[in-house]
Amino acid sequence: MLRSVILAASRSTQVERLVATAPFTRDVVRRFVAGAATDDALRATRALVTDGQAVTLDYLGEDTTTPEQANATRDEYLKLLRLLGAAGLTPAAEVSVKLSALGQAFDEQFAYDNARQICAAADAVGTTVTLDMEDHTTTDSTLDILTKLRKDHPSTGAVLQAYLRRTESDCRELSAAGSRVRLCKGAYKEPESVAYQSAREVDKSYVRCMNVLMAGDGYPMLATHDPRLIAIGEDRARWFDRDPGRFEFQMLYGIRPEEQKRLVGEGYTVRTYVPYGDQWYGYLMRRLAERPANLMFFGRAVVSKK
Ligand SMILES: Cc1cc2nc3c(=O)[nH]c(=O)nc-3n(C[C@H](O)[C@H](O)[C@H](O)COP(=O)(O)OP(=O)(O)OC[C@H]3O[C@@H](n4cnc5c(N)ncnc54)[C@H](O)[C@@H]3O)c2cc1C
Repeated sequence: MLRSVILAASRSTQVERLVATAPFTRDVVRRFVAGAATDDALRATRALVTDGQAVTLDYLGEDTTTPEQANATRDEYLKLLRLLGAAGLTPAAEVSVKLSALGQAFDEQFAYDNARQICAAADAVGTTVTLDMEDHTTTDSTLDILTKLRKDHPSTGAVLQAYLRRTESDCRELSAAGSRVRLCKGAYKEPESVAYQSAREVDKSYVRCMNVLMAGDGYPMLATHDPRLIAIGEDRARWFDRDPGRFEFQMLYGIRPEEQKRLVGEGYTVRTYVPYGDQWYGYLMRRLAERPANLMFFGRAVVSKK
């Protein structure tokens, strides 16, 4: 119930204005977002890489409505990739891209062209691109664009969401050699017709999908903070004889950092998803919806400002 309310608020410009201008918001954002500038992203990346982690960087922004905004997002990724290469942070750091930020909603071909340029820039510095997955109305379009991108940039990765009923079948399609798939639970509000609604059903689907990916020939990226799913991931890695170079765990910046370190200590590849930029509203609201207890951060921030 609270999750639905928060996810509905994530689409409201009025609530966005309220949250963005609240004096305590900065402290809360800082926990989940590396900062507003490219330098902040580079700093966070360097710290994580020094600690033995891999990174995927997300320049925040989504649901872009104009070509100018979409091109500005593309240009930021091109600049970021150049700087990552120059700093010697590739291939440890790659980028995650939302096609809606590149114009998918108003012109798929335009979004594809922008994504292609980002993939070429990633190739030039020896790293990869993963296409984030957004709400279910974009899944087919995103997978179509993925197929086209992979013709010239075969290492381009996809995200599949275990809460969607279609995902087990999508995992089968994308479990061939060379295919990089990030498996997550899914962060949007979706109708029952397309998505499992209970946490138990989503978890069961996650395990089925993980089994398909870990048994396949591709490169699974298990994106979850859920201790039970991580333990099952470790078990499947042993079962399918996947050493750390043949799959990875992924977590979000600021969430369960001690668990991230533990897994690195166990010898696993762990990639942290590092968001940066000033368009943090939708991202932050999805993090709050996943764990309404995070609202406590707002509470504490308010109290500490008094
Ligand atoms: C690297 C990465 C990339 C992702 N990319 C996408 C994407 O492209 N599309 C998409 O729809 N979703 C994406 N997600 C989000 C994902 O779908 C889930 O919404 C999110 O990961 C929470 O699910 P969980 O598997 O961690 O399990 P949950 O059951 O939500 O959480 C398990 C435990 O993890 C901790 N935890 C989880 N979330 C939080 C939080 N926000 N704050 C504090 N603690 C928390 C808590 O201890 C919780 O009990 C991504 C997640 C990761 C890690």
